[in-house]
Amino acid sequence: MENKLDIKQLVADAIAKFRKGHATKTFSQRQPELGKMLNCKVCSRRHRSSIICKQVFTTIINRGPDEREVPERHAAQTRKGINGSQMFAKKRIKPHHSHARLLLVQMTQDLFPKYFSWNIFKTPQEAMHAARGEAQAILSRKARKLRNSVVQQQHRSRQINAGLIGGGIQ
Ligand SMILES: [Zn+2]
Repeated sequence: MENKLDIKQLVADAIAKFRKGHATKTFSQRQPELGKMLNCKVCSRRHRSSIICKQVFTTIINRGPDEREVPERHAAQTRKGINGSQMFAKKRIKPHHSHARLLLVQMTQDLFPKYFSWNIFKTPQEAMHAARGEAQAILSRKARKLRNSVVQQQHRSRQINAGLIGGGIQ
């Protein structure tokens, strides 16, 4: 068979190729398991890339005469440490009550006994949810009514100002 692989020739070719490449390769290319030399930013020494230095963060405690650095295990377990300070930047710690929210709370409290007395809800929370739903519906109906009357008054005023209808003090 003429296309039978000549193993000896293949091995000889591979060895020749390896020798040729080996002579021109750098140390790290000949020893890939050691890796390249690098200036390590973590330990500020010069070593091979196979050595991986782990970054250890420190935090300064006791600013002043007793100042010292300790390894940081985790951020402070405060709301800023957990959620990030941006969430709380330029915001009131205790926000002012909103008038609309207060009305909703008040109306929910007024409606709660009615829903709770029905005994169809498994928990008081469910009764409270239902009461809040009705309170929201009532309040949004009221707000819509007020808004409509304002829009109507505005329309009338503009007609009067344009001289289309009579009005005001004659
Ligand atoms: Zn290092």
